[in-house]
Amino acid sequence: MAVENSKNTEQLLVLVKPDGLKKSLTGNILTKLSEAKLVIVGAKVIQVSKELAEEHYKQLKDKPFFQELINYIQGKLHGSSYSRVLALVYQGENAIAKLRHLAGATNPEEADPVSIRGAYGRITTKGVYENVIHCSSDPVEAEREIKLWFRPDELVIKPYPTKKTTIKNCDITVWD
Ligand code: UDP
Ligand code: MG
Repeated sequence: MAVENSKNTEQLLVLVKPDGLKKSLTGNILTKLSEAKLVIVGAKVIQVSKELAEEHYKQLKDKPFFQELINYIQGKLHGSSYSRVLALVYQGENAIAKLRHLAGATNPEEADPVSIRGAYGRITTKGVYENVIHCSSDPVEAEREIKLWFRPDELVIKPYPTKKTTIKNCDITVWD
């Protein structure tokens, strides 16, 4: 008889947003997230293109704050040195609920003051919640976002099925 695996192993995308980088909060945020005792299976710094930003937040495209949100995640509100995000994939038991709890409510003014967003977030004069961190909100969104931000070979484990493909006549940059 098969042994039932009662563990609900999940993975999710976490972004330290440009305000988190500008405020030098990366260390604080990673320390806080480590309370969840999950593992990091991928990490990189990315300059977010307009296309990636719009695809990431496509479910919010009809919201009045959408354009300002795109500017925000592209780092356009924080100067060219901060036009990037730190992208991570965390994995572990009930990872999504655990990290969203540590992140706190979307609105930093409503977030628990000891949560990441409650401690470090703010609302801009244009009304955008600058809340320093993104965490995928459910397993379906997490899969979409992880596949959007990371290639399989950038993760040390493959949480979703992969396949081999050949790319012909494809220029890539290598070290000189
Ligand atoms: N956001 C905002 N105003 C709102 C709702 C959302 O500025 O009224 C921004 C905020 O930065 C948030 C992001 O849009 O983190 C994505 O919104 P979502 O509802 O998905 O919240 P999250 O999942 O990030 O808590
Ligand atoms: Mg969300």
